[in-house]
Amino acid sequence: MTPQGAPGAGAALTDGRATLADLKALVARFIAERDWQPYHTPRNVAVSIVLEAGELLEHFQWSPPAPDEMTPERRQQIGEEMADVLAYLLSLANVLDLDLAAALDAKMRKNRRKYPVERCLGHWEKPKNPEGGAGVE
Ligand SMILES: [Mg+2]
Repeated sequence: MTPQGAPGAGAALTDGRATLADLKALVARFIAERDWQPYHTPRNVAVSIVLEAGELLEHFQWSPPAPDEMTPERRQQIGEEMADVLAYLLSLANVLDLDLAAALDAKMRKNRRKYPVERCLGHWEKPKNPEGGAGVE
């Protein structure tokens, strides 16, 4: 919860001022105020994440602009789609009672083992183990 009170009720949230818990509470409150919890099943929310990700991808279809070619309006539209994806991701974490920060931390630790810097620096290919078999898992 932000120092200003209920999520979304005080000063505008920013990356520097909001915690993941603040954002999860913001989304949960929005859903609860509308009594939409019955619709936020894990399946429905997971589907919604993908649908919103598709809307985000539409902004890069056909002629993807370079970052320095983005107009303020386009950046705002992309930000809104990113927010849609994030909102549903946070909602899924709420529905599943999942600690998203802990999940990200665990996944990044796993990724560090899977993609060690000394074997992956400057290229994206999945590293093969020294015996030439499948990549590290
Ligand atoms: Mg959208």
